[in-house]
Amino acid sequence: MKKTLKLAVFTDLDGTLLDHRTYSWDAAKPALDRLVRLRCSVVLASSKTAAEVLVLQERLALSGQPALVENGAGLIGLDGAQGTGTYAALRRTLDLLPAHLRAQFTGFGDMTAKDVSSLTGLSPEAAALAKARDYSEPGLWTGDGQELETFAKILAHHGVFAQRGGRFLTLSFGRTKADAMAEVTRTLKPDVTLALGDAPNDVAMLEQANFGVIVANPHHAPLPQLRGETEGRIIRTQEPGPLGWNVAVNAFLDTLFPDQGHMSHG
Ligand SMILES: [Mg+2]
Repeated sequence: MKKTLKLAVFTDLDGTLLDHRTYSWDAAKPALDRLVRLRCSVVLASSKTAAEVLVLQERLALSGQPALVENGAGLIGLDGAQGTGTYAALRRTLDLLPAHLRAQFTGFGDMTAKDVSSLTGLSPEAAALAKARDYSEPGLWTGDGQELETFAKILAHHGVFAQRGGRFLTLSFGRTKADAMAEVTRTLKPDVTLALGDAPNDVAMLEQANFGVIVANPHHAPLPQLRGETEGRIIRTQEPGPLGWNVAVNAFLDTLFPDQGHMSHG
């Protein structure tokens, strides 16, 4: 009997598996169901908190799978998995910034659940889960590019890294999605890894995977050309969000498992 390839899929959420505005994954359901049927690992990788991801995993029928939370600063679903630094230490570091720079960053910790709700479109309950942070601080940056450079430089001096996502600037003590992905890969030992993402904070993950998919997100500037694209190792979707996700994952599965033809998925 032929050994089945072990595939691990690492996927960003907002703007990738989830629609940028509605957070729906309906369009991706056919390919997602196919991954579950093929017993592939589906590792959610986003800026969301453990509290938020646990709820999503249940709805996506992915409970018990490992997940990268808070942009990789935290890991759930792996034995002995831990995060880096603490949220309280991160908030204290913000207080060390000059007032004019500090004023340009409004973190979730500076907002009420209602603020987070109106900013993200999340329900008030979901916004409260988004505020339940352990390792990282997303927020809005209102200053210019040069101020951001100074802001990031001062934070880096204190061991804090600033990463731009599709919507927020997220601060953490370092471990990125790519670092956390390497940890999950060491544990799961898949034969093949596939990563999907839409924003600059997904780039290292996309480049580190065996195969990568840049999911189109018309809500922000397209990513610059990545190294793997010229080699054909990284591709771009035409359709945005879960629609593009579905097409790309189905095409990938058709290549990887040619004898497991897809069930009808339109
Ligand atoms: Mg995203």
